[in-house]
Amino acid sequence: MPDKSTLRLRNTLGGRVEPFQPGSADEVRMYTCGLTVYARGHIGNFRTFVAQDILRRYLRFKGYRVLQAMNFTDVDDKTIRGAAEAGEPLRDYTTRYIEEFFDDADALGIERAEHYPRATDQEYVEAMIRLVERLLENGIAYEAGGSIYFRVTGFPRYGQLSGAAASDRLAGARVDSDEYDKEDAQDFVLWKAAKDGEPVWEAPFGPGRPGWHLECSAMGLELLGSGFDLHCGGVDLVFPHHENEIAQSEAATGEPFVRHWFHCEHLLVDGRKMSKSLGNQFTVRELLEEGFAPAAIRHLLASVHYRQQLNFTKAGLRQAEVAISRVDEFLRRSDEAAARSGASSDDAELPAEAVAALVRFEEALDDDLNTSKALAEVFIALKEGNRALHSPEGAVEAAGWAAAIRRMNSVFGSFEMSPGQESAGDMEGPPDLEALIRERQEARERRDFARADEIRDGLAARGILLEDSSSGTIWRRRED
Ligand code: AMP
Ligand code: ZN
Repeated sequence: MPDKSTLRLRNTLGGRVEPFQPGSADEVRMYTCGLTVYARGHIGNFRTFVAQDILRRYLRFKGYRVLQAMNFTDVDDKTIRGAAEAGEPLRDYTTRYIEEFFDDADALGIERAEHYPRATDQEYVEAMIRLVERLLENGIAYEAGGSIYFRVTGFPRYGQLSGAAASDRLAGARVDSDEYDKEDAQDFVLWKAAKDGEPVWEAPFGPGRPGWHLECSAMGLELLGSGFDLHCGGVDLVFPHHENEIAQSEAATGEPFVRHWFHCEHLLVDGRKMSKSLGNQFTVRELLEEGFAPAAIRHLLASVHYRQQLNFTKAGLRQAEVAISRVDEFLRRSDEAAARSGASSDDAELPAEAVAALVRFEEALDDDLNTSKALAEVFIALKEGNRALHSPEGAVEAAGWAAAIRRMNSVFGSFEMSPGQESAGDMEGPPDLEALIRERQEARERRDFARADEIRDGLAARGILLEDSSSGTIWRRRED
């Protein structure tokens, strides 16, 4: 069983890479800020969700149980506006994007969380109302113009997460036109006064709707308890969202809110953050419709350390496809060789070098979840496995390397993925290229050129070009 105590992660709170120490020896309570459901999530969002999934899988690899909650923000300015424009009830409008989120998350092999609370679920609205009541009782929240605000100067530890100087915070504080009653520009809204055309909930302090930050505090405290272990999101959430979550939670409970904060860097396009407002986004579905494999998207998103920015390109996706097909092909051939030799890959004895590779794999992930270093071990195992496969009597050793790769893949999850076309809609899935290339080769060897050409033309029609050379056939995607 892997050693839990060796895992070190950077904690945004304090800014250091430090031992990850949950409150319990066996269980990690983890909260992840989910989508604002007014549009289909883009692969920038999914970079963060895949990083969180790798973290979750690695915690399980280490032997923890994980109790994870991921919210859906289904009431805010954007969802309200979107539903009004679509002429639909808010709940119906947002449910559509939640379903699409699950389609994409399933296609990418993201493990399901234990809880998916929605901000408009009655039980969480009630939890939010209770939280605001406590803050009013503690005198740190105040009413102005029918809304309830949090008085930032009343919470001296404000800024502990983002380290933002008060002047920066002021510059960053957006004063919405409907918030001009607040005492101080950096105060943030907990409860927005009822407005015409907006959903409204009754509360002892007046009718209205929750502010955005409030939901994650209420849901986190409700589902995971005070002082839970891990809170995750993209770096754009550090300030103000997570800073405000800490302030309102700790001012209400008097206890530390979260032990460990984990933030993922952005996915960029041409050097700019992928975002819906810039219009530079790609969705998982769009990329699948172009014929990219979900495994390639997952692999690309996971291949760079979560604290480094990652510039998205389709060339990067194509490289990921090649990497995946090499590993998948080895695993398939190793199973075949093992079956022929009567060995089973399940009971394969791991060669000592494979055990060492697994140790290095774990060391890399223990070191602040260094996925790029850990992935290098997969490719070392691949090289050694292929070498074993080509040597006589090497089937058992190859099976050992295959077993090591499969163990690593319990964290990466991008190899041996099903094509995922059911969840991505009813389009045709990506072709099994290696199998088709082999079949074409066999057709050529038996001089069945009609069949060989049929395969080549079929792939060309799907934008995949085959190139023959003395060392074999390779494929590439046609540049558009
Ligand atoms: P939102 O729906 O905007 O609240 O975002 C959902 C999650 O995706 C949050 O954790 C964001 O920080 C994250 N996110 C948004 N854009 C990107 C991006 N370009 N790269 C990485 N994460 C992102
Ligand atoms: Zn949140």
